[in-house]
Amino acid sequence: MPALRDIVDRNVAEAAPELYEKLDRERVRCFSCGHCCPIPEGQRGVCKVRFNRAGKLYVPWGYVGCVQCDPIEKKPFFHVAPGALAYSFGMLGCDLHCSYCQNWVTSQALRDPEAVSPPLRATPQMLVEEAVGYGAKALVSTYNEPLITSEWAVAVFREARAAGLMTGFVSNGNGTPQVLEYLRPWMDLYKIDLKSFDDRHYHELGGRIGPILETIRRLHEMGLWVEIVTLLIPGFNDSEEELARLSEFLAGISPYIPWHVTAFHQDYKMADPRNTTAEDLLRAAAIGKRAGLRYIYAGNLPGEVGDLENTRCHNCGKLLVERYGYLIRGYHLTVEGACSQCGSSIPGRWGSRFERQATAFPFAARLPRRSRAEV
Ligand code: SF4
Repeated sequence: MPALRDIVDRNVAEAAPELYEKLDRERVRCFSCGHCCPIPEGQRGVCKVRFNRAGKLYVPWGYVGCVQCDPIEKKPFFHVAPGALAYSFGMLGCDLHCSYCQNWVTSQALRDPEAVSPPLRATPQMLVEEAVGYGAKALVSTYNEPLITSEWAVAVFREARAAGLMTGFVSNGNGTPQVLEYLRPWMDLYKIDLKSFDDRHYHELGGRIGPILETIRRLHEMGLWVEIVTLLIPGFNDSEEELARLSEFLAGISPYIPWHVTAFHQDYKMADPRNTTAEDLLRAAAIGKRAGLRYIYAGNLPGEVGDLENTRCHNCGKLLVERYGYLIRGYHLTVEGACSQCGSSIPGRWGSRFERQATAFPFAARLPRRSRAEV
């Protein structure tokens, strides 16, 4: 079997003209993520999957590293069509290198020899056809960092939109103005992992906080539906002061942005911090509430966090969506997406009605069986 890097290097297309510029001496600058790498001829960017060959930038194309059918609650999107199936695909690589990554098999495939995930040949039509076949309402680029494979995402999203699906990213948010403008016409939903509110912590993960905060601001201004997740890691990002500044920042953009605080469990290379407890999540949620956030959720510990898996009306407190983990136990919004008690409009993309939940559990898509052709 050819080396993973050779496979990835063969399955490429030239980058979108909006996402790079040519510099002197055959160097190029990439705008697909906040690193904005200047790349000499014959070299790669930080993400390892975009490279300069003869003064042109080449980017991943025509494969998936992983494809799966997920409950939309797993992304997590809690204010988007509850109960819907989100057909989810990813490529390979990431522009950060978080030691606690929970998708490391795909995100670190080109950095870590233990991260093996054989890519499969795919076309946008193939992915969308399968998503529609499963009755998906959304098609989501996830598992690796989707910003670094934005051209492929847009190719898939064009088809998805034509088929009536919503489209979204599950991303670290390390964007640029150029890539957000490029994605804007084809994107509905955007989930960002806001991993910390301390630039030193972001340096440890291989990034900077500035582009991430700017991306959150811009996405909200653009009118995309944004939800934020903070994986709460004891001793890393859970100080009172850091969580207060983080949640005040979000509330300053909009108090209606949903904020998910989720529990860390020891994974990949970060085995030192203890696992997050329900009490930790409740404490973080209380800080967010004091900052003014109206929709706060606690994740990864189903049944242990009281009311923090449910959606309640920000105005009258009526219980609107009841959840246990990814399972929807009750749905009480009106067809217009308003509170059934006081009539307040509830921010989100609710869909006209809740029929039944497509799935409460992730399951493998058929594509890997159909596309035996590994790239
Ligand atoms: S996507 Fe980011 S890391 Fe990769 S080449 Fe472009 S700017 Fe660099």
